[in-house]
Amino acid sequence: MNDKSIAKLSKTMMMALISRQWLLFKMTERDKEKLEEKDTFKSLNMILYEDSEYHFREIFHKDSGMWVTGDCQDGTQPFRRSFPSLLDIGIMGHCPNGKAGICAKAGIQCYQNAPNSIRENMKLEDFKTIIDQCKGKTFQVALRRCR
Ligand code: SF4
Repeated sequence: MNDKSIAKLSKTMMMALISRQWLLFKMTERDKEKLEEKDTFKSLNMILYEDSEYHFREIFHKDSGMWVTGDCQDGTQPFRRSFPSLLDIGIMGHCPNGKAGICAKAGIQCYQNAPNSIRENMKLEDFKTIIDQCKGKTFQVALRRCR
């Protein structure tokens, strides 16, 4: 292991410790200030989520998709969130494969009832509005066909 990889490992370990402190509400005000000054989490491409209703915190790493949820401030484990962490958005109102019976012929049963759906697709503006409203709060979005 060379100096560069040791330095990288130390930084990762330090971040893991700080993250844990932050997640468990045990970070001092001075530590918080230091983090804000350096914008450390942001520079590591991490999103910090604080649920002010249920009093817990989460960290999401944008590059790896790693996602850690801390305990609630009272030490219990969170069992709900004030905003969804995962969204399943039905962007298509109909499916050409379903209409043409391609999936049915291949023995795939459509769980979305696409062969019978004739709705309009979702407007791009509507999709953008949903995504804008989720910024910093939702960490995964699944796109579905028929709604
Ligand atoms: S929505 Fe998916 S499973 Fe359903 S018909 Fe279309 S391609 Fe097939």
